[in-house]
Amino acid sequence: MNDNVVQSHRVAFRSFGIPLAHVRTTAAAIKELDGIRWRLRGRCSSDESGAWFKDPRTPAARTARSVCASCPVRARCLSAALLYGEEYGIWGGLDPEQRAALDRRLQRGETLRAVVTSALALRVMEDLDEAV
Ligand code: SF4
Repeated sequence: MNDNVVQSHRVAFRSFGIPLAHVRTTAAAIKELDGIRWRLRGRCSSDESGAWFKDPRTPAARTARSVCASCPVRARCLSAALLYGEEYGIWGGLDPEQRAALDRRLQRGETLRAVVTSALALRVMEDLDEAV
């Protein structure tokens, strides 16, 4: 991936497409997630390293995940990535493979809120396990 691609995929300035039809959520949630405000509050908003779009197994990506763990907009970030079917990068601390598993739950009819809430609760426990 060259630098231009990395820049165009920065979380803060990624332009989203059309919400996936199978994702069950509210119009208010879509309006919020489509906006730029939450992204400017993200802990990666001024990142220039591209770490969030490196191979998820690299040390840089692990660092990115640890930043996500304390990000104040983590739930919105993961929600947006799922809603818009982001294929690349770490969003809300989860890589594409992890999000694909969540998308399968969305395709089975679970709501976006339920999927994100349970996924982040699990991630928080895993983050704590790594920290202690
Ligand atoms: S959760 Fe991670 S990827 Fe999302 S805005 Fe926060 S730091 Fe960036």
